[in-house]
Amino acid sequence: MFQVLVANRFSQHSLLKLKQSSGFDVQHAEDISEMKNHWATAQALLIRSGTSITKKLLQEMPQLKVIVSATSGFDHIDFKETSARNITVMHTPGANAQSAAEHTWGLIIASQRKYLRCVNQIKSGEWQRATLMGQELAGKTLGIIGFGRIGQKVYKMAEAFDMKVYVHDPYIDQVHFSKVNFLGYEETVRKSDIVTFHVPLTSETKNMVNPASLDWFNDSAALINASRGAVISLDALLNFLPDNPNFIVGLDVFPFEPLPKSSALLDNKNVFCTPHVGATTEQAIARASEEAVDKLVAFAMLQKISDPLPPNAAWAQKLV
Ligand code: NAD
Repeated sequence: MFQVLVANRFSQHSLLKLKQSSGFDVQHAEDISEMKNHWATAQALLIRSGTSITKKLLQEMPQLKVIVSATSGFDHIDFKETSARNITVMHTPGANAQSAAEHTWGLIIASQRKYLRCVNQIKSGEWQRATLMGQELAGKTLGIIGFGRIGQKVYKMAEAFDMKVYVHDPYIDQVHFSKVNFLGYEETVRKSDIVTFHVPLTSETKNMVNPASLDWFNDSAALINASRGAVISLDALLNFLPDNPNFIVGLDVFPFEPLPKSSALLDNKNVFCTPHVGATTEQAIARASEEAVDKLVAFAMLQKISDPLPPNAAWAQKLV
């Protein structure tokens, strides 16, 4: 029997499918610590980004052969340790791209139309529309930083809003995108009304938004991040906001999650935050869960490996 621990949210259907496949003994809990008594015998892990794969955890799982993360991102996994132990790691890169791209537009629209203030106002019994003046998207310029699966979907959706789009991605093969306007990072930010980040967390993208790059933004620009929290230096952003009262921010991810209730970000009326829900839709979870289960079964039965991690991309040499 292949001993499998499933941690975090997986669809009921995918769990049933795994339990009904012959040869798998499956334990499931929201938090991996709840299955501590099975760590010593675990051979496979099915996880999401809520489970950090650390050296310490791996030391407690001497039998582990394979990890499948039902996510696109993978900065929750210590690859030094998994490769030293020869543990196969796979992920489900495309499964939540649509949900993450749609949520990005949620952040963009919410920040351009001041939805946070609208909701607070109506709840407090006020009706002061003149204080809730928003911005149309049509005719505005969108800057996309990172043109992978999610960045490309965000691009397509921007076309429907009649926006002009600039893209920065030094690793993409531009030959395949003849209609896309590629620019350097600084130029993309300087030319854009709204800048949205869709990069992986690497030594290059960590603190990509810092005191120097914040100066490139227009006074009334919007900064959107649904990629990874550490892409933005939170200290730099918190220092920048008081001097830039028209600067708008929409964030789904934070350097430390959960974001503490006491965070100064939450006191700023121009900052719209969601609790890392980019991939939290029934469809994305169902898709990622099914794909992860299928990958695990194919590995156990046929030694088949697909979407291995870390990926074979030039930027992956710079993982933090
Ligand atoms: P992807 O690997 O398909 O695309 C990432 C792109 O970033 C690639 O095209 C790569 O060339 C580019 N890139 C790498 N380094 C760069 C740099 N220094 N400057 C500019 N571009 C650079 O990844 P994806 O599936 O599109 O995911 C993008 C990000 O979104 C990841 O960080 C992922 O973890 C995150 N994500 C968040 C949520 C959420 O719930 N908020 C959901 C899914 C994914």
